[in-house]
Amino acid sequence: MSVRDLEKQSMRIREWVLRSIAEAGSGHTGGSLGLADVFAVLYFQILRHRPEDPSWAHRDRLVLSIGHVAPVLYASLALSGYFPEEELLTLRKLGSRLQGHPGRDHGLPGVELSAGSLGQGLSVSVGMALSAKHLNTDWRGYSIHGDGELQEGAIWEAAMSAAHHKLDNLVAIVDRNHVQIDGYTKEVMEIEPLEDKFRAFGWEVLHCDGHDHAHIRSTLQNAPITPGVPTVVIAKTNMGKGVPHIENDYRWHGKPLPKKELESFINALYHG
Ligand SMILES: [Mg+2]
Repeated sequence: MSVRDLEKQSMRIREWVLRSIAEAGSGHTGGSLGLADVFAVLYFQILRHRPEDPSWAHRDRLVLSIGHVAPVLYASLALSGYFPEEELLTLRKLGSRLQGHPGRDHGLPGVELSAGSLGQGLSVSVGMALSAKHLNTDWRGYSIHGDGELQEGAIWEAAMSAAHHKLDNLVAIVDRNHVQIDGYTKEVMEIEPLEDKFRAFGWEVLHCDGHDHAHIRSTLQNAPITPGVPTVVIAKTNMGKGVPHIENDYRWHGKPLPKKELESFINALYHG
């Protein structure tokens, strides 16, 4: 897919993020918008998957550890063909398959992990990647993390384990937007020097501009760099990317847009 087409998919993802959250009246707008470009590249370029056969044994596994940005996952799945786009408007409704955090028991195809408890996804990804090694299969694991989430101790146990088991079939992606639920990461709990930390735990570290589709694609295509070594991609992103007046404002972590402002937000998406 061309970069231009990937950019178009990102815009469709962002539009659905806004529409679904506005319809729900609650949800995590900032992080969902910020990850739209990374998700477009993953779902439309990188992942080996079959939306018409979501249980295909050889599919790559994408684990969304930060379950609260479910709207970006749901939009990406629908636009890939896992389920009809209109279902996105049932986000957070009673009985919907699209709950506020993804749940395996809700029956939505393409969801690999029930997520929401931060810090757990990397351990699950390590288990999946380890099983792929044991089964001698060649699918990859992609694990999506927030930067605030890296303050969880369980992340670092999992990181140590991934290196120990030489999981070069695992790629962790950090949404490095420098903000978390109620402030800047450096003020809540500093996570730098992040690259040094991952290297010390035995990982290869790559960086990319999380809004540059060509850069995201080439970075992900380059992993793994070193046989036997897991890779982390630190993707520099802006929370709320695409809607200028909410970008980088942590107050938009979990804030929905008022329904009456939906069209002006979407207009801002396309016209700045
Ligand atoms: Mg963050």
